[in-house]
Amino acid sequence: RGPVIVPEKTTYNSCNVEGMFIAITFDDGPNPELTPRLLDMLKERGIKATFFVVGKNAEEYPSIVTRMAQEGHEVANHSWSHPALTKLGLESFRKQIENTNDAIAKATGKRPVLMRPPYGATNAGLNKRLSEQFGLKVILWSVDPLDWKYRNSNRVYTSIVQNTRPGSIILAHDIHATTLAAMPSTLDTLLTKGYK
Ligand code: ZN
Repeated sequence: RGPVIVPEKTTYNSCNVEGMFIAITFDDGPNPELTPRLLDMLKERGIKATFFVVGKNAEEYPSIVTRMAQEGHEVANHSWSHPALTKLGLESFRKQIENTNDAIAKATGKRPVLMRPPYGATNAGLNKRLSEQFGLKVILWSVDPLDWKYRNSNRVYTSIVQNTRPGSIILAHDIHATTLAAMPSTLDTLLTKGYK
């Protein structure tokens, strides 16, 4: 028997970690009012997050994207205009990815290496193309408070705090005031539990 060749992993729902590490991710921004407030909250607590930005929003508010990168957050691709990528032809797919990479690179000086397909809609072919053609790993999630659906801060808090484990990838959206309102207590509780 020869060595087992394990294909390189291109999608992630959670991370294997030793220790109390988690990833908190915010999608669909930047939002001109809410995202700067979120950045303040993260800064006060010394927390680094990942922002999956929508390309057209990044182009409209580049200074917020620049600030994300300057303050040590990961800026990542969430498509140009938030379509289901599985329904696009090759050329529109390419534009959704490339234009967003360009907008991020323009604002941060760095091309993104992570991508989250809108609605989590992806398949093996898309994952392969994202990895091979664009150098993007697909990041999904394991904790989903459905904050876009239930605009209720207590629900967002409870769902995140109860479901987070070491290695979790938490999904939230920095375009809803209710999510922002839930963040100070959510972040403080996670820190108190020892999460990093
Ligand atoms: Zn989204």
